[in-house]
Amino acid sequence: MGYSASPSSAQDATARTDPVPVPEPTALALQYHRSGNLLWALDTTAGFLIPAAILFSGLSARLRGLAVRISRGRWLPTVAIYAILFVALTALLTLPLSWYAGFIRQHAYGLSNQTPGAWLGEWATGLAVGCVVAALVLWIPYLLLRLSPRRWWLWTGIATIPLSVLGLVVGPIWIAPLFDDFGPMKDPALEARILTLAGRAGIEGGRVYQVDKSADTKTVNAYVTGVGATRRIVLWDTILAKLRPDEILFVMGHEMGHFVLRHTLSVIFGAAILATLSLYLVQRIAGGLIQRFRGRFGFEQLSDVASLPLLVLLGGVVSFVASPVALAWSRRQEHEADRFGLEITRDNRAAALTFVRLQQENLGVPRPGLIYTLWRGSHPAVAERIEFANSYRPWATGGEMRYHHLFRPCAPRHGRSTD
Ligand SMILES: [Zn+2]
Repeated sequence: MGYSASPSSAQDATARTDPVPVPEPTALALQYHRSGNLLWALDTTAGFLIPAAILFSGLSARLRGLAVRISRGRWLPTVAIYAILFVALTALLTLPLSWYAGFIRQHAYGLSNQTPGAWLGEWATGLAVGCVVAALVLWIPYLLLRLSPRRWWLWTGIATIPLSVLGLVVGPIWIAPLFDDFGPMKDPALEARILTLAGRAGIEGGRVYQVDKSADTKTVNAYVTGVGATRRIVLWDTILAKLRPDEILFVMGHEMGHFVLRHTLSVIFGAAILATLSLYLVQRIAGGLIQRFRGRFGFEQLSDVASLPLLVLLGGVVSFVASPVALAWSRRQEHEADRFGLEITRDNRAAALTFVRLQQENLGVPRPGLIYTLWRGSHPAVAERIEFANSYRPWATGGEMRYHHLFRPCAPRHGRSTD
């Protein structure tokens, strides 16, 4: 059984297994990392303060009053209009911070090429999508609150599962194209190598898209998204420009690992568990809070849509507390995707060099601190990924491979398909 990425000669083998040293972060990267932590703390605080202010000032009740007047008291339109008002208000209140983080700062560090108009256009598109989505789904928890005042939190938590699946079905085809231009890969030779790799990973009819990001950003990225017929691998054109073909193939092997190991499915269920926990906390303590502060809140019932900022606030508390667990789970999945990518490409050096380039192009630091890891580390530290890429080679050392049984031989396709 041959493997396309296996070293073809002894000389290549030496070159490909030379360990890659972990590069020291530049002064600029360290500065970007430290100021990024401060910005995260500010953003997290704003995420608590803004719904709290809308709630305790009685503004939420006034927004609901406005929604009732516009909809002439009809329940469903009231909920939809309140949803739009709330989303628009929070977006406007966070606009200065978003502008600083997404535009000013990215330009200051040389990571962005975006024009102010393009940034604002993207922000407005995001706001419009947020308003439409909120108007379409907010009635679900509030209807369940009316129908089942004791168990609504459970039904709503369960309802997030089909909603997430729906989001994954329509997101890549209806929402993502509002922000970016997606097209086929422009390098047919590389695309053919990627599709061969996908065939070996057992992904049939896989689609690979190239997205035009270089007009806006200098950072590099690739990801998997969608579900069923809309499943796809997306490569930013910046990653295609900055990585060599064998490095791109390792990135693809990693992304295919997410597919084959069904990571999307576990993210959907994990998110549903988190949502259910948040809503259960709401159920347990919201009644007492409303009793105590109803004069300030301006509403008496949790089933009043004016209670939304309370749900957002308590949901934020649960997310913050649960983040270290959720991120530890995410890091584990990313590590397994790295293992999958290494096992299917057997190219240690390409993998290690990929992480070096990711660190350099995205102004990363190889070993972030504990707070970053606990609350922000969705991926293992770059240094750990480089060290794993250097040392994990059970195919050469006689160790056991974890995912080998999932791979298919790389024989060329025969005329007749056995499906
Ligand atoms: Zn990944």
